[in-house]
Amino acid sequence: MKVQGGIGLLGGTFDPLHNGHLAVARAVREALTLDQVWLIPASRPPHKLHYPITSFDVRAAMIRLALADDPSLVLSLVEQDTNGPSFSIDTLERLAVSLDARQSYFIIGADAFADIHSWKRFREIPRLTNLVVVNRDGAGNMCQPASCIKKHFPDYRLTKEGLYQAMGQGDILLVDMSRVDISSTRVRTLARAGDDISALVPLCVAAEIRRQGLYRLAI
Ligand code: ATP
Ligand code: MG
Repeated sequence: MKVQGGIGLLGGTFDPLHNGHLAVARAVREALTLDQVWLIPASRPPHKLHYPITSFDVRAAMIRLALADDPSLVLSLVEQDTNGPSFSIDTLERLAVSLDARQSYFIIGADAFADIHSWKRFREIPRLTNLVVVNRDGAGNMCQPASCIKKHFPDYRLTKEGLYQAMGQGDILLVDMSRVDISSTRVRTLARAGDDISALVPLCVAAEIRRQGLYRLAI
């Protein structure tokens, strides 16, 4: 299912960025032969309003460090100045000013996709971008991508393996990648206990977490 060129968009809290995020970005870039994948830290994710999260600048700085040697992965600050929660639909509308919807591929893990019906104006998302859903470990009883599409995007039909299409809208693509059992929650829990996180995050991120003493207090 190669598309030539195009930009992948991976939004998230990235608190902190971990090797799973990088694996997702690289797997999708390779599967679809995209030019770049942009990592888009959320100013304030709407589903995490009740948790304290690390400041935008610190989360973004860790991403910048980790992407320094890979020009195909790019830090996007498009959500930096949004006051209040950042909703994906608003971000996609902002990006649509400079990015052709047919060339943009919004990437979501299967866990987040299972929840997409709770997102602001979620049905309009595929009008602004193609959607790419990647599988994720440890999400046993959540709604599987194929059934989620059937339930929440009923206009879509499977036209090829892993490709769902609907008239006048972006495609929904399922990308099967080797699962990486890492989450930011696990990184924070280990860091809080002072345990080793070097297998879960890039070395520069582990060093930054240590240097700043991040996650040492309950989060
Ligand atoms: P937290 O545990 O705090 O929720 P997280 O590891 O889920 O953090 P997010 O920043 O919430 O990371 O994730 C951003 C996006 O990346 C989401 O679409 C999520 O599904 C996806 N993602 C994160 N980690 C993985 C992974 N290991 N495999 C597949 N997708 C992932
Ligand atoms: Mg998450």
